[in-house]
Amino acid sequence: MIVVKVSKDNQLHGPVFMCDICQERILHTGNVFWLVNSRGDPVNGQVWHLHKQCARSFEIVQEKDGPGSKWYSDELSNFVVYLGENLGIQNWEDAIDRARTLTD
Ligand SMILES: [Zn+2]
Repeated sequence: MIVVKVSKDNQLHGPVFMCDICQERILHTGNVFWLVNSRGDPVNGQVWHLHKQCARSFEIVQEKDGPGSKWYSDELSNFVVYLGENLGIQNWEDAIDRARTLTD
């Protein structure tokens, strides 16, 4: 599974999200999925990134992992914010400015 890969083309370089179904780059909007138990706790910690149009195929292909488990889904843009928050980013504007400086 390729979740994030580093790409360099005419428009950008740096990490990009790849769809776990079609293996193409996700642009603009996507979804993130992970399996949770009946209490809402993650089951195995594995995360899937998908185009919205690939999400239905994913739900058909994936089998649930045990009784009471289900797929939690959220916007990929929210997932990026969760990562930043869990990384401890205090000042998002400074972080964005630094990243843009490095990629210019
Ligand atoms: Zn896809």
